[in-house]
Amino acid sequence: MKKQHLKSVQKSKLNAGTHFSLSEINPLVVTAVDSKKKKKRNFFSRVLKVIYGLLMDLLELFYPRFCFACDRKMLEHEKVLCTFCLRQLPKTNYHLHPDNPVEKLFWGHCNVYAAAAYYLYIKGGKVQHLVHNFKYKGFTQVGEYIGEVYGKELMNSTRFADADYIVPIPLHRKKLRQRGFNQSEIFGEGLSRSMKAKLEVKNLYRKVYTSTQTKKSRWERFINVDSIFALRDKEMYKGKHILLVDDVITTGSTMEACIKLIQDIEGAKVSVVAMATAAN
Ligand SMILES: [Zn+2]
Repeated sequence: MKKQHLKSVQKSKLNAGTHFSLSEINPLVVTAVDSKKKKKRNFFSRVLKVIYGLLMDLLELFYPRFCFACDRKMLEHEKVLCTFCLRQLPKTNYHLHPDNPVEKLFWGHCNVYAAAAYYLYIKGGKVQHLVHNFKYKGFTQVGEYIGEVYGKELMNSTRFADADYIVPIPLHRKKLRQRGFNQSEIFGEGLSRSMKAKLEVKNLYRKVYTSTQTKKSRWERFINVDSIFALRDKEMYKGKHILLVDDVITTGSTMEACIKLIQDIEGAKVSVVAMATAAN
């Protein structure tokens, strides 16, 4: 009966010259076609998944990914740091503690609203290895990742969360050409992804090229850096909270030179963050 009825519908529609869809003719046919398509789709997505898995395995075989801090082989879901390092690297938590050792570096020198660094830098330690991979071996993903992770933590501190601009310590053009990237800017980019503050790289610039600063006393460094930075537009920072960022804070003298350029601008306050510090 049902078959006959459907056939008569088909005939009458054909006779009337009307357009009709397959589903109007026979829903059973459509369901069969749909399930065939679905099966085909499922089959292809399974094949794609297998191919993707094989490619990833091959990539792992030829290009295994290693933790940038401890050099252990990373698992597929791990990124930049292995789970162990992510938990065990020495975090300072200075952002939660006013009057912390990084803030103390600036006491008596310049006005800092808040200062902190993510990791404690120990000579020969994993943090040093991590920073070395980033700064000197050019693995920029390290700076971006640490910035992003740290930015999330800084948003839990009222002293940092309201920053308006993230301003990386600039490199001289010559140094930038040599290295190919500014490590502070990469770290700042990561921070800006997790914070409300905007990355700002045009205002503060380095006027003078300085040679490497290792093995110099704080006073020598201070003399060296005091007049090497400048601002293009002081008005821009009026009433703003500026977050100066660097990769590592050691003596704080480079930061100090930049802070002094901003601290007296009307209504401006300056804070400081770095990936790591030796100050404890
Ligand atoms: Zn590790």
